Amino acid sequence: MKIIFLIEDGLGDWPLEELNGKTPLEAARTPNLDRLAPYSLLGTCQTIPKGFPSGSDVANMALLGYAPEKYHTGRGPIEAAAKGILAQANDVIWRCNLVSVSEFGPKGKMLDYAAGHISSEQALKLINWLNQQLQDKEFKLTFGLQYRHLLIQPNAPHKILGLTPNPPHDILNQSIAKDLQIYQKYPPLFQFLTKAAQLLANNPIWPKANALWPWGQGTPLQLENFTQKTGLKGAVISAVDLIKGLGKAAGLEVIEVPGATGLTNTNYKGKVSAALKALKSKDFVFLHLEGPDEAGHCGDVKAKIKAIEFFDKLILAPILSQLKEPFTLAILCDHFTPIRLRTHVAEPVPFLIYRSNYKYKGFPQFCEKTAQNANLFIPRGDEFLNFVQEQAGA
Ligand SMILES: [Zn+2]
Repeated sequence: MKIIFLIEDGLGDWPLEELNGKTPLEAARTPNLDRLAPYSLLGTCQTIPKGFPSGSDVANMALLGYAPEKYHTGRGPIEAAAKGILAQANDVIWRCNLVSVSEFGPKGKMLDYAAGHISSEQALKLINWLNQQLQDKEFKLTFGLQYRHLLIQPNAPHKILGLTPNPPHDILNQSIAKDLQIYQKYPPLFQFLTKAAQLLANNPIWPKANALWPWGQGTPLQLENFTQKTGLKGAVISAVDLIKGLGKAAGLEVIEVPGATGLTNTNYKGKVSAALKALKSKDFVFLHLEGPDEAGHCGDVKAKIKAIEFFDKLILAPILSQLKEPFTLAILCDHFTPIRLRTHVAEPVPFLIYRSNYKYKGFPQFCEKTAQNANLFIPRGDEFLNFVQEQAGA
């Protein structure tokens, strides 16, 4: 039995006035999902444990079967694992965004967590240029993807782990004064960031990137081997480093798909063929799509609906028609990214489990409401995979 997880990042949403009280998932045209729902098991799952930030790092770690309480040190270390960056136990790795702020000072506001969606090509130039200009002894920038990069601090003092600057997507159009005070608690960090902002203010490569924003720091990530833990041989497919990092740290195959962008224009076809190919030799594929989350952060209803419709047509349909062996499919999101909030919330996420060789008594549609009404609640994200494995074997 093959097991496939299709993760639509940030899919969950709230009813919207402009959609006549429907959520984007309800409003989107999803003939393939609609075809599965009547025969599927629906429910909700608390992917984010209490006290954890409602991020994709925490939720996807849990969905791969790892308890965040035990394994999560921060988002930065997960993305570093994706790059195969070897770090020492005493090192601290920060996730570091290129952002747009109105000014890097107490009167400043966070204008864009993605610096006008800088391309990877421009970002690589900018990060190299910045490292050259800064020549810092303690902090080193490492290129990641688009606006997402890493800041590595070897042999960091322990107190640095206690600093909790906001993720930039959580403070859109809000003052950055409080976060700057947090950075100031470790003066070398604040000095580094101030100097970087001064340089970036007049950078010749991408003027919209006018500050660095480190957050989500932690010591290097170490996960128990996935195959030993679950008995499944598997692979992950995603555009974003944090999923690749979780995959690598778990000993899963990380399949690189050319043209996978993390946006709605991603290479759907490439992702599907990678999944189908992987399933020839493996039992488990974790296919992650970032599109709905990005649309949620942008507050763009149309883009979110489009991302959901693309998923239905370009991911789900070909998998259903081309996968010949018996399979169990789980469709869900890691967390909600409501259009109205433009950031993540930690409420239980809707899921759908479909088995090619068994008909559940399902619902006419898969959405936040029907999943909730199904009265099946999995209280921990790291129990979900086990639950699906039980269903697959049932
Ligand atoms: Zn997000």
